[in-house]
Amino acid sequence: MTLRDLLADSPDNSLSGIKWHTLKQSIVKCLLSIGDATILELSTELQSSIPTISKAINELLADELIVDSGKISNSGGRRPSLYSVASDKTFFLGVEANRSGTSFGIQNLKEEFISIDLDSSFILENTYESLMEFCDRIDTFISDSQIDKSYITGVCVNLSGRINSKEGFSYNYFFKENRPLVEIISEKIGLPVYLENDTRAMTFGEYAQGVVEGEQNIIFLNYSWGVGIGIITDGKLYYGKSGYSGEFGHSPLFDNEILCHCGKIGCLETEASGWALVEQFKQALQDGRKSAISIDNNASAIEQYHKILSGALVKEDNLCIELITRQAGILGRALAGLINILNPELLVIGGDFSRLGDFVLLPIQSSLKKYSLGLVNRDVAMKKSILGRRAGVMGACRVIKEKLLTPLT
Ligand SMILES: [Zn+2]
Repeated sequence: MTLRDLLADSPDNSLSGIKWHTLKQSIVKCLLSIGDATILELSTELQSSIPTISKAINELLADELIVDSGKISNSGGRRPSLYSVASDKTFFLGVEANRSGTSFGIQNLKEEFISIDLDSSFILENTYESLMEFCDRIDTFISDSQIDKSYITGVCVNLSGRINSKEGFSYNYFFKENRPLVEIISEKIGLPVYLENDTRAMTFGEYAQGVVEGEQNIIFLNYSWGVGIGIITDGKLYYGKSGYSGEFGHSPLFDNEILCHCGKIGCLETEASGWALVEQFKQALQDGRKSAISIDNNASAIEQYHKILSGALVKEDNLCIELITRQAGILGRALAGLINILNPELLVIGGDFSRLGDFVLLPIQSSLKKYSLGLVNRDVAMKKSILGRRAGVMGACRVIKEKLLTPLT
């Protein structure tokens, strides 16, 4: 038996069968949540008798879903055994698909990467054929990792745009009114699938394994081709009613008559984002500005965007830097409004632009100081993301773990 089998519905449909299956699920969820535990601790936690827990533990040991991880060191007497979930049979697969490429990562229970690929050039297009190829890529990644597919407990796919992760719908990619995207992918790859918004997954990654050091009220800025935020309040990701929170880039802030890709005019992204940077760079050249880098007009907008970013980062091109610092100042002003509203203790700057370090951080900080309320501003520290492109897949793996830990009802 695999953990995936155990977490599925009971094979025995009788009331006692379902009850027994649920108890075994609860033991495993408890061990995933609190780590190693003794039978007495599990009995207390799950409010079940010691003989009942002992019997279930023996079955789980026989199924090799848990292991005896040694005796507890206590004072005298018979030392009880500690049990933990078998780490060689439980893995999580995080996948991030965005306009720059696709990233895959498999983590074990200790949140260590067993296999990771951040450089796949595959671009997920909004077509059925592309979606099927995407599923094949997931399968190939699993087989290349040499991990038994049955040990993959779940897959979380991060996409940009509006995601209802509770119901598994994506509204910007592959939207079908009567069929959640998770169902389509799950049917094709034969694994449980979850969906998450890309920025929210990155936020979770930074929170779980990145730059966050105990802070519980956080805003994470994903400053990339598009602009979004992730919000953590009291240690929990904030979703909003349907999961559409964090659409910061579409704040209607400007009377500039620039059409945003969302269909509105004057969104924050029309002045500060990767796609706006490409437009601003081209316009500056047309206006006679000089730059050390040239962009190929036949290249895709994404390729042009990366060329301009590296123009600032590698060549320290004045025009690229000037446009980016101007954008960062605009973002800082918009963030000042958010900080006034949410009073966070930490602002994490992530996404492609965060690689530019002070060229981005300093203008944001300056605008924050200028436009936010002094008392509120004093509460907030600002840090740069340390996970970079790994943040998304790390967060995706954490999302799966959290879903598994959802209490049974
Ligand atoms: Zn917009």
